[in-house]
Amino acid sequence: MSLTLYNTLSRRKEPFEPIDPDNVRMYVCGPTVYDYAHIGNARPVIVFDLLFRLLRYTYGADHVTYVRNITDVDDKINKRAADEGIDIRALTEKTAQQFHRDIEALGVLPPTVEPRATDHIAEMRALCEKLVEKGHAYVAEGHVLFSVESMPDYGKLSNRSVEEMEAGARVDVAPYKKGPMDFVLWKPSKEGEPGWPSPCGIEGNGRPGWHIECSAMAARHLGEVFDIHGGGIDLTFPHHENEIAQSRCGHGTDMMARYWLHNGFLQVEGEKMSKSLGNFITIHQLLDTKDFGNSQWNGRVVRWAMLGTHYRQPIDWTADRLTQARSTLFEIAELLDGCDAAGDPNADVVAALSDDLNTPSAMSIIFGLMKSAKRNPEKRSELKATLEFMGLYGGETREELDPGREEIEIDAGKVDELVAARLKARGDKDWAEADRIRDELASMGVQLKDTKDKATGEIVTTWEIAR
Ligand code: AMP
Ligand code: ZN
Repeated sequence: MSLTLYNTLSRRKEPFEPIDPDNVRMYVCGPTVYDYAHIGNARPVIVFDLLFRLLRYTYGADHVTYVRNITDVDDKINKRAADEGIDIRALTEKTAQQFHRDIEALGVLPPTVEPRATDHIAEMRALCEKLVEKGHAYVAEGHVLFSVESMPDYGKLSNRSVEEMEAGARVDVAPYKKGPMDFVLWKPSKEGEPGWPSPCGIEGNGRPGWHIECSAMAARHLGEVFDIHGGGIDLTFPHHENEIAQSRCGHGTDMMARYWLHNGFLQVEGEKMSKSLGNFITIHQLLDTKDFGNSQWNGRVVRWAMLGTHYRQPIDWTADRLTQARSTLFEIAELLDGCDAAGDPNADVVAALSDDLNTPSAMSIIFGLMKSAKRNPEKRSELKATLEFMGLYGGETREELDPGREEIEIDAGKVDELVAARLKARGDKDWAEADRIRDELASMGVQLKDTKDKATGEIVTTWEIAR
């Protein structure tokens, strides 16, 4: 199966050719662990999990190395720990555990390696040393800084020239920087801040900058040049641009990763969901509370809703999207109830995903599979295998798909009476009355479905409890 991926570096879709098909290597920037992950943060986790699954399917499960790091040294972490008056390590451990619980529920497989920044300080210091030795970095006032001027093609990934970037740089550039775009590889730590002995002959303790963490962890676990690097589109600049600068200049290579993949934003009312805008909903809230759409959501429902949009497009996150996903999964739960056969995933779905992870197309094929499985139960194993392959099914029952539901007491006799009254109103062409009755039923939690009887041409109304 040939795989094509959109490469941010070339701004086009390219056939994917791994450096070594026996070991396909992918790095994705993971969370900074100081607070609950929001549902925007879940998007890259789900998208790259799907790519991981596809790569495993295509090259063999033992021939893919997926590294997703944990950033456990960062100024946001220090601030939060100080604000809460707790130990930094206690905060990062607690947050990392919560992150794992959250994403497991979203059907996300553990990556092959999940390195923590604090376990790779030696590699970061060594990279600082190398960059200074090669004239790509310098020491100033206890900092190690990368000299952007030393890299002529800096800015290639985000397609901007250094002049443009300088024009956009903030006016209050730190006085010790030689160039306004120069960025921190290492900085001094004050008393009480996490710190390690500094590199490059600097006295006292310090800590790494964010960008160098990823360069060091990627090289340690994947080598100096690897296949795929992923993350959200907001990381393209400066984070990924700076990772590339550090890695290429440090290792003397002409690339860090061959394919750079970025997911689009998850938005709320047209704006990026983010902590700073305060418009976020956490994965934990979706799964464990009724804070969104007055409903508690199963992780597979969230995953389905997320994958309904192509990964490079923005998603507007609405309760409606989740409700629709849940209805589909209800149908699937009924269809696959008692199906324990295993099969291969549908080839057309695999082909759609191999075309730059075309999930909308994969899902429309899945809807077709559902239709044929309804007619022909033998098709159920293929449907099941396809959904399991995409992480969209794990044997959930209808009840599990709707964890926060409250049993609604419904008087079936009364509902039947109202349904009959509505049919009569329709017969009398009293549309206003018919609509009024439909609304009354809806307010009782009853949803109507009108279908035409093929033989008689009559309208038959059935009802179900809306969830
Ligand atoms: P951060 O914790 O901000 O470094 O983000 C962790 C990951 O989530 C990165 O890959 C970000 O690009 C991604 N991310 C953050 N916010 C959003 C969003 N609203 N939509 C999609 N991805 C996001
Ligand atoms: Zn990174």
